[in-house]
Amino acid sequence: MTTSPTMPAETLRGLCEGRVHLPGDAGYDAARTPWNLAVDQRPAAVAVPHSDAEVAAVVRAAAAAGLRVAPQSTGHGAAALGASALDDVVLVRLSELTGVTVDPDARTARVLGGTRWQDVVAATAPHGLTALHGSAGDVAVAGYALGGGMSFYGRAHGLAANSIRSAEVVTADGEVVRATADENADLFWALRGGSGNLGVVVALEIDLLPYADVYAGMLLWPRDRAPEVVRAWAAWAAETPDSVTTAVRVMSFPPLPDLPPFLSGRQIVVVDGAVLEDDDRAAELLAPLRALAPEMDTFGRIPAAGMLAVHMDPPAPVPAVGDHAVLSGLPEEAIAAFLAEVGPGSTSSLLFGELRQLGGALGRPVEGGGVTSYVEGAFALLCVAMAPFPEAAERGRADARALCAALEPWSTGTRVLTFVETRADLGTVYGERWERLREVRAAVDPAGVFVANHPVR
Ligand SMILES: Cc1cc2nc3c(=O)[nH]c(=O)nc-3n(C[C@H](O)[C@H](O)[C@H](O)COP(=O)(O)OP(=O)(O)OC[C@H]3O[C@@H](n4cnc5c(N)ncnc54)[C@H](O)[C@@H]3O)c2cc1C
Repeated sequence: MTTSPTMPAETLRGLCEGRVHLPGDAGYDAARTPWNLAVDQRPAAVAVPHSDAEVAAVVRAAAAAGLRVAPQSTGHGAAALGASALDDVVLVRLSELTGVTVDPDARTARVLGGTRWQDVVAATAPHGLTALHGSAGDVAVAGYALGGGMSFYGRAHGLAANSIRSAEVVTADGEVVRATADENADLFWALRGGSGNLGVVVALEIDLLPYADVYAGMLLWPRDRAPEVVRAWAAWAAETPDSVTTAVRVMSFPPLPDLPPFLSGRQIVVVDGAVLEDDDRAAELLAPLRALAPEMDTFGRIPAAGMLAVHMDPPAPVPAVGDHAVLSGLPEEAIAAFLAEVGPGSTSSLLFGELRQLGGALGRPVEGGGVTSYVEGAFALLCVAMAPFPEAAERGRADARALCAALEPWSTGTRVLTFVETRADLGTVYGERWERLREVRAAVDPAGVFVANHPVR
């Protein structure tokens, strides 16, 4: 190993069987590139471990060299991390520490640190099981579930953080510890919401759901129908049972050859999600929206694995910027404000403005839950703009801020952490749980080795 006083990261060279990349190395740019291609993260080094022992060795070496460590699985949530200086940070990319073991009798799965949801769902489907995954299959279980994790099964089954039974974590002293309700219970509490601030999670055991198939899909109209569709959805969504979790999005697509004709160059309004009921009851619940005569209606019974395609998330990394808020409700003034930003006639650069149903089990605190076990609020507002070049990113951020500002009068001030693209003020998000989270962090990582997208200090 070469040691350079000006380049402490040099001391990591040779770890992970050579998969440590420093600025200037041939592999550095590929290794540092996150899923969100708009994020230009430039850490002191990127380590790509294949085992928990390799993770532990990297953490020990980084701490000894006075460097910090940022765990990252896919980089879907990289925006907040990448916006800060990372020149004393070793990025630990978990993208090659992956694997799923299903225990169908216990209805659980053990997933390694960087495993993506699509691999979990592929492994659970043959057993007639699924999980509290989100809309995109290439999001990792760790970042999603440790940040809360809002699924289209969420109003029935709660946040994904509550489905974590145990975590195996490399802590700041480079030890692998297990955290459960009975073992390292404070760490277990803090991880579920404190995420990458407490250590590198090398495995999670999660509860599975007993669904081989689900009633799910989407309804689509041209954007000029948005005023009646968004109003009808908002009234409907406020009354649906917990078995229903849906979103409404007003979307504007550029003309692109890779997009299907029903999306390419079009401005549309879409309602999608899942209804965890039998076919007759699901059809009865959806009837008021179907009465609005959508141009497309794909709702029906599908294999549970098909749920990962319903929300039409991009199949590969993209450059994107966005913003988010939690709303207490959607009175007429709020709907009008939403439509003024993204509805008919709007020239916003946003790819979409989205409202997702909260409430049901998502809104109920869970006995034995972690820092985040529920979200107080009625709807989540999300917006995303494509950012292929800096001016587009700037405009997208401005339009995203404008949409959130327009709905500020109905914002609860809290956040769904997985949707936050800028650094979240966790003190505001976690309220009275914030001090305990800081205490646990200070106890398990007194030197502040770990840095996450949303820091706990
Ligand atoms: C297309 C798309 C669709 C999405 N859909 C949903 C959705 O339906 N519901 C929802 O709730 N969210 C959704 N999200 C948001 C997503 O859940 C967050 O961005 C989440 O943080 C991604 O987790 P990741 O591990 O893939 O990302 P990363 O950027 O790799 O991780 C984000 C943070 O998680 C922590 N982390 C990640 N891995 C580890 C680990 N192994 N150990 C310790 N800490 C770790 C770190 O603090 C890291 O900074 C979506 C995002 C996108 C881009």
